[in-house]
Amino acid sequence: MRSLNEECGVFGIVNHPDASNLTYFGLHSLQHRGQEGAGIVATDGEKLRGYRDLGLLSEVFADKEKLVNLKGDSAVGHVRYATSGSNSIQNIQPFLFNFYDMSVGLCHNGNLINAKTLRRKLEEDGAIFHSSSDTEVLVHLIRRSKEETFKDKLKDALLQVKGGFTYLVLIKDTLYGAVDPNGLRPLVLGKTKTGAYIVASETCAIDVVGGEFVRNIEAGELVIITKDGYTIEKYTEDTLVSIAAMEYVYFSRPDSDIAGINVHTARKNTGKILAKEQPAPNADIVIGVPNSSLSAASGYAEAAGLPYEMGLVKNQYVARTFIQPTQELREQGVRMKLSAVKGVVAGKSVVMVDDSIVRGTTSARIVTLLKEAGAKEVHVRIASPRLMFPSFYGIDISTTKELIAANKTIEEIREYINADSLGFLSEEGLIEGIGLNYDVPYKGLCMECFNGDYSAGLYDYADEYLDNLTDIQKEYLANNKRYFDDIVKGEN
Ligand code: AMP
Repeated sequence: MRSLNEECGVFGIVNHPDASNLTYFGLHSLQHRGQEGAGIVATDGEKLRGYRDLGLLSEVFADKEKLVNLKGDSAVGHVRYATSGSNSIQNIQPFLFNFYDMSVGLCHNGNLINAKTLRRKLEEDGAIFHSSSDTEVLVHLIRRSKEETFKDKLKDALLQVKGGFTYLVLIKDTLYGAVDPNGLRPLVLGKTKTGAYIVASETCAIDVVGGEFVRNIEAGELVIITKDGYTIEKYTEDTLVSIAAMEYVYFSRPDSDIAGINVHTARKNTGKILAKEQPAPNADIVIGVPNSSLSAASGYAEAAGLPYEMGLVKNQYVARTFIQPTQELREQGVRMKLSAVKGVVAGKSVVMVDDSIVRGTTSARIVTLLKEAGAKEVHVRIASPRLMFPSFYGIDISTTKELIAANKTIEEIREYINADSLGFLSEEGLIEGIGLNYDVPYKGLCMECFNGDYSAGLYDYADEYLDNLTDIQKEYLANNKRYFDDIVKGEN
């Protein structure tokens, strides 16, 4: 079974009299990263208090008393995204652990790939778990560490977990923020004018509380924040930057910067390159799918010299379709979410740009909507390469079975979504469009879900992955250059 933490949003603040309120605001700007549950843990320097529940942040804290009760000048918070089957309150974060000698608040964004092995070892050793989430593993490792100080115990634990993660760990007077050795999941540090420090998944959360960006927390780094300020240490030297490309393609907000690159700009560039790589010679207009592909669509239109139009309108009050547990509900979700603008698309040959195709549900539905609204032709252009491999580091790109590009050729996908033509961005186009420039494979991007090159290994997932390769995946792997060929296995 896939691990239970996926892409989420985290926010933490130290040294602010309204810590839990600011955490609420910060999390609100990260709500796009997860809508399944939310929570906040605050400390007044002595005692940690927390509240968490299922639902959107505004639902969880609809009763404002809940926030007022979270007293103190430091806090951490979490918005949770998870796959179906795991939506129990037990798995909503932050977790708050009370021990005889201390309390720990813990949030995690990402996915561990050796959680199963670690958990089994810990359970054999007498550990009892309360949730089915990977996150609890870390706290058991901390408590079992033979190191002297809490910081060293945490570092010791961080060296044992593998995969994509950012952790925020709050104790009574200190907030720790850690990033995995590949920097797969983003974490940024900011500061308010009043001298409070912030850590968050995205820079948009620093902006929303009126803070200033200080720096990115990089691969293998641990930031330690107290009311006296912050220090940054490396808990490992064994790092290799590989930032999830899907953060740029889909997950993050366009006003955020990741590793110094603005997400809107990156998307727009990919759209421009897409227009060159996959032109649509007889098209009249270009439209995007709100909201995540509007930036790429505007880039495509600009480079193709075509009008950029609003051909689809989104009802902003429907949660993301991906969240729905069944295919039927997902299809219903798409219908409620998007409407075609007849006056814009009727009689036109339309280029419809989307950021990605996962199962194909969204594209298929949109092509139908556009044709029902009178579009003469619909040319689908995707501003990322084919999502052909499952993600194991914490973006919810499901299993091979559900990935349409792992099971169908481009022509078969075109037919399935009923488009007049279909084109994907190349891997090189994505890397160039995002524009990172690290001197490492893929210039510092993690391309695992496009090319099956798993920068952090596979551990517990190695067998599942190798046993389920489709012919399309095998052919791709046989024909493409790889950097991370060692499939590291877990111990079970
Ligand atoms: P699908 O309908 O399954 O092909 O999903 C594709 C749509 O979901 C695209 O329009 C994307 O904007 C969005 N998407 C891509 N990746 C993810 C993800 N990991 N989680 C949720 N939505 C996604």
